[in-house]
Amino acid sequence: MKCFNHPQSDGVAVCKSCGRVLCHDCCAEVGTGSACKGRCESDVEDLNIIIKRSKSAYQKTGGAYKRNGIVMLILGLAFIFIGIIPVITGQGYATVFLAIMGLLFVIWSYFSFVSAKQITNIEE
Ligand SMILES: [Zn+2]
Ligand SMILES: [Zn+2]
Repeated sequence: MKCFNHPQSDGVAVCKSCGRVLCHDCCAEVGTGSACKGRCESDVEDLNIIIKRSKSAYQKTGGAYKRNGIVMLILGLAFIFIGIIPVITGQGYATVFLAIMGLLFVIWSYFSFVSAKQITNIEE
């Protein structure tokens, strides 16, 4: 691809804002991206800010999943504990449903952790 402005020069970058191919002379570095020098620089700056914001929002979602997972895990283990003790001590099976609920909580927490991990992976 040749530069949009200089057909004789090879393109070295693509503007993050308008998508035009730029040569070394036309390209301006803005954060992690390239922009048309003197034309799209401020647009790409704005874009970078938006991307940064959405990334941190994503990170927060990952953290929320993780917290959710921890709460579910603790609740689940507590329910299993409360539900299983009478069974072990021979007081009957009336509380077994608590243990099953606890197991569901543990599974739920597992999926929360997996989601949190996936989000963190995208981040990295
Ligand atoms: Zn541009
Ligand atoms: Zn050029």
